[in-house]
Amino acid sequence: MNTVSTFTSFTTSNCYIVKPYNDERCIFIDLPPDLENALEYVNKENLTIMGALITHGHFDHALGMEKFNYGKYLSLEDEFLARNPQDQIKMFMGDDTGVNEYKGEILDVEKHEFDFLRIHKNPGHTKGSVSYEFPNLGIVFTGDFVFKDGIGRTDLNGGSIGEMKDSLNNIFLNFDKELFVFPGHGPYSKVNEILNSNITLRELLND
Ligand SMILES: [Zn+2]
Repeated sequence: MNTVSTFTSFTTSNCYIVKPYNDERCIFIDLPPDLENALEYVNKENLTIMGALITHGHFDHALGMEKFNYGKYLSLEDEFLARNPQDQIKMFMGDDTGVNEYKGEILDVEKHEFDFLRIHKNPGHTKGSVSYEFPNLGIVFTGDFVFKDGIGRTDLNGGSIGEMKDSLNNIFLNFDKELFVFPGHGPYSKVNEILNSNITLRELLND
């Protein structure tokens, strides 16, 4: 799929670069701490960056905001997580590695003006978790909502198993079955394949 390029972070999260018009314009999905390879690719291919759509506020998807000088869109319900990554990093690395509060601009994703984009709010992993669908390309970026073989954990700050169930039944189940799913971690898949083989997800769907 040459409209999507994948860059996997040392934290295992995926940064994606999408070309919604199949020309030189591109948009980032998620900004992991290590953005160097993705930005190098942009340079090499002479692409024009339109901004970044961040699926949720966890540091492995948002800490790259510091290094990214374009519009950064996020659900404002996750703004506190994205601005204050110190506790999350401590949990992950045992040390906050000297990271400070993020004080730059964050744009409200609900006010985006991209004509190629459909957003789906799917709380459960965090309050502000969002999936980004590109209907014209037949793809959806799910962040830590749904993976190929699992779902996002619901036991972290802002997580809720009840909201996750609602989101699976009312959002994921309504996705077009032919959509390709590009998750926040791991390989891509398809909605119908996930519905058939993702056991954790199936267990949370209503009969
Ligand atoms: Zn997460």
